Amino acid sequence: MKLWSTTLLSRENMNYKDTLNLPHNSFPMKANLPQQEPKWLEGMGKTVVLRNSINKMHNGKYFQLFSGSPYSNGDIHVGHSFNYILKDFIARSKRMNGCNVNFTIGWDNHGLPIELVVEKQLKGKRVPNDVFRKLCRKYAEEQVAIQKQSFYRLGISADFDNPYHTMDYQTESNTVKALANIYQQSNLVSGKKPTHFCFDCQSSLAEAEVEYYDKNSKTAYVGFYSSTINADLVAYTTTIWTLPANEALAVNPELYYSLFEYISNNQVKRIIIEEDSGVSFFQLVNATHIKQLEVFSGKELSNKNLVVNHPFLAKQVPIVCADYVSNDVGTGIVHIAPTFGMDDYQVGKQHSLPMTDTVNTSGEFIHPMFTGKTIHTATNDIISLLQANDKLYFTNELTHSYPHCWRHKTPTIFMATPQWFIKLDQVAKDAVASLDEVEFYPVNGKVRLTKALQNRPDWCISRQRRWGVPIPIYTHKDTKYPHPDTYNIMLKVSENMSKIGLEAWFDKTHREVLGVDESVYNPCLDTLDVWFDSGVQFFSVCAARGMQITSDVYLEGSDQHRGWFQSSILTAMAMSPENARSEMVPYKNLITHGFVLDKDGKKMSKSLGNVISPNDIVKKYGADVLRLWVANSDYQKDVRIGDEILERVSDQYRKLRNTIKHLVNNLHDYDYDENMNVTLLEYDQYTINRINEVLYACNVFYNKFEFSNVITTISEFCTDVLSNEYINNTRDRVYTYVKHSNSRRSAQTVYFMALKMLYQVLEPIIPFTMYELMLLSEQHHNSMITLNNSILNSYNTFNYSLLSEHKKQFNKTIEQMVKDKVVNSSSECVISINTDNEGYIKRINSGELKRYFNVAEVLFNNTLINTVKRVSNEYQKCERCWNYSTFINSECLCNTCANALVNKEESHKYM
Ligand SMILES: [Zn+2]
Ligand SMILES: [Zn+2]
Repeated sequence: MKLWSTTLLSRENMNYKDTLNLPHNSFPMKANLPQQEPKWLEGMGKTVVLRNSINKMHNGKYFQLFSGSPYSNGDIHVGHSFNYILKDFIARSKRMNGCNVNFTIGWDNHGLPIELVVEKQLKGKRVPNDVFRKLCRKYAEEQVAIQKQSFYRLGISADFDNPYHTMDYQTESNTVKALANIYQQSNLVSGKKPTHFCFDCQSSLAEAEVEYYDKNSKTAYVGFYSSTINADLVAYTTTIWTLPANEALAVNPELYYSLFEYISNNQVKRIIIEEDSGVSFFQLVNATHIKQLEVFSGKELSNKNLVVNHPFLAKQVPIVCADYVSNDVGTGIVHIAPTFGMDDYQVGKQHSLPMTDTVNTSGEFIHPMFTGKTIHTATNDIISLLQANDKLYFTNELTHSYPHCWRHKTPTIFMATPQWFIKLDQVAKDAVASLDEVEFYPVNGKVRLTKALQNRPDWCISRQRRWGVPIPIYTHKDTKYPHPDTYNIMLKVSENMSKIGLEAWFDKTHREVLGVDESVYNPCLDTLDVWFDSGVQFFSVCAARGMQITSDVYLEGSDQHRGWFQSSILTAMAMSPENARSEMVPYKNLITHGFVLDKDGKKMSKSLGNVISPNDIVKKYGADVLRLWVANSDYQKDVRIGDEILERVSDQYRKLRNTIKHLVNNLHDYDYDENMNVTLLEYDQYTINRINEVLYACNVFYNKFEFSNVITTISEFCTDVLSNEYINNTRDRVYTYVKHSNSRRSAQTVYFMALKMLYQVLEPIIPFTMYELMLLSEQHHNSMITLNNSILNSYNTFNYSLLSEHKKQFNKTIEQMVKDKVVNSSSECVISINTDNEGYIKRINSGELKRYFNVAEVLFNNTLINTVKRVSNEYQKCERCWNYSTFINSECLCNTCANALVNKEESHKYM
């Protein structure tokens, strides 16, 4: 864009310079965002509060944007900033459109990662649990402070003064209250579930506490006799000690199984194994005279209602199907011990198999056949038993990767331990049904969430940890049933927790609560899954604060279909009576975004060294550039970030800034209130209509959460309509006309309206720059820019797009003439427009038209072609406005300029 002011200033003969209306340089081109932004943060916060209270006063619609909680461990990464900036686009755009916005943020504090950090800090030193929890709390507080500062620096307009934390005493207390409600609805049930278990820790371990090392294990091919087929189904196992807990055999429904007959050690054997596994099996057992007698699919085999005899216990077990069974190793037949394996457990749940306890928490057998043995020493006894019963086909040793305790480096086992579950059958069905009330962005989110809900087994919510919300339930030492007054006990504990936190349960002398019953009840010392803490936030935070249970928006990464979106709706359903569940959906609009990848589309990781910190981006480019990058992204998919990308965004920022700069720097002598009655020229009315259309379009995009459409529309509008067209076409009026003339004020009014529109549309995206603009507009007494957000008037005008097409054509010709050195600029040209079919142009005075085309003269012709010529010798250049004219007076001024110097207005009607 060619700037009039600079061309004039560089001119040698500047006699008339002081008589021009030159722009003030109050809005600098160089933004200096990294240095400037921190200075504006406080004022921006106040503006947000002010805008919200004005909206509230005007009965603006209440809009609740409830932010899911990041985990308070480590500073924020670029994915967090992506997420929060998207949320902020929504909060700010809703506020700008008159809503009373509640944007609540908070942090997730309990759980294993913090326990692990604190444990490392203690370097193996043992401390009492209450001291340990205090250390966890302190660490979490420090981490929250760090993250909060980083989010604040990004210009996030959330309520930073009232964040929630899942470790707030009141929130902890409310979390237990939510659990009590679920108990009251009979949806909290006890059961068993395998977890990693370390006999040295005497405790369950989380996946993160397990390390994998190689281990030697004895393996066995074990026969389970079917009297119906008169053959052994041969299963392969690497955990021989789990055979006493066997409850079924599993086959893959898609594989084929054969009944073979063969001879080994002079004995005739009849076995069933998966067809292809025969090759290796027959080698192992030295088989000869092999005959394939019959073939069954896995599905058929399991449909026959066959039972097989346990190889050494007096019981029979069924044959069931399981998709995970393969023929890669072994025989395609797997022995199932639901107590001792995750897959086994799932199969057991599906087929209602019993869970047999055979081992205690010290790893010793409680099964009478193996009393006094451990899981290590019993293996040889079991092998002997199998041999004695003629059920051992082959045994060997295998070196495989096996889970070990990260503290003790000893092998762990999977073992079912008592746990608490939320019963999900009906709850998940109701959750799926209630999703019909939810709008999904993108729409396929509904399918993802529905699938996640449908495939979910009962939710195990208990953890054997220390830093977490308790499950305050007493169970009877013999019957294992919860205390008959459990609901009230939970409420009482919850009340105490609101005063002293977790220790209201963990540090409790239980005699106070139970009296003499204390001797026959055990307190549950487990903690709640942290997904429960965050899941119930609609209750523990929203409802508790008098907010709505149903938020207008939940916006998180698409991985939350398996996480928070699910835990929220499941807890909401589980804690309410069936007939009230449809009222309990925690979200109206569910928006998801993709992941942030590096410039090459790779996942960021410390080991790859490609991690980009949002704090570093902000220091280098400024938060507004980071925000502009988010706005440009197709956020519902995975997005990329890198220096090259950010440089491109910086360019875009500079272009926007340049347009804004031009508008604002020419409004230093303009006051909207004083110019309410200006008679807008028709072309200016037309431009205001276009500004209106863009504002309307952008509001529609905001309402559909399509931020990249907003920024694309605005960027194009700034370049094509404002910079290249309107500003260019009105520079004479603005710079050279009488200051208070109607023509000039009319153009300034368009500048002002354009700025007002840009402020409204861009404030959600680049709030720092818009705050800078607001400060300036307040100095100019045109603070209207910020506080009024109505759509502007629209006008009935002629459509100037045809004229604009003419101009584009002329410009092409003139550009070529400049290249060919025929003319220096368009101002040396006389153009002739064919107006045969476009008589409307004739309405416009040619003096007005020449300003529009930036030429010396506009002629009309009826020759069907447009022509451009260099001005003849009769034309001279005006020393003030540089336009060529046939009327240049003795002071080297054109008529318009001569008039301007004596405050005589040039009257324009159209443009
Ligand atoms: Zn251990
Ligand atoms: Zn002039």
